Amino acid sequence: MISYDLRCEKGHVFSSYFANMGTYDALREAGLLICVHCDSREIEKAPMAPAIVSGRPSSTPTAADYATFRQQVWEGVEAESTDVGDSFADAVRAGEVPIHGTATIGETIELLAEAYNVMPLPPRPADGASTPVIKKSELN
Ligand SMILES: [Zn+2]
Repeated sequence: MISYDLRCEKGHVFSSYFANMGTYDALREAGLLICVHCDSREIEKAPMAPAIVSGRPSSTPTAADYATFRQQVWEGVEAESTDVGDSFADAVRAGEVPIHGTATIGETIELLAEAYNVMPLPPRPADGASTPVIKKSELN
């Protein structure tokens, strides 16, 4: 995970987290970075402020940071993979890619034990309660 301070065209500065530098570039190019304050999609990296290296993060992620991260993850997932709903485990075993869907914890553990490359995602912003998973290879 990498954290960037981002700034929208109106000067709002906020932090967001990305799997790696490539994820930031891909989300930005796809117009999927959104200001948490005004919904602007004109986002760029804010200049880094000088920091004293203390071995600890300079700021603790906020609930808004998490909400932004979760929204960006789901926008990417929904744009780039097919929702197979509750058939996720069967679809994985059938070799369908790229997909996302829901699985029970038991099904997820079975898939991992069978060496399928799946991973849990944060709850979907719209329905908060599901336990979606996506094939990890789709995120590279
Ligand atoms: Zn803004």
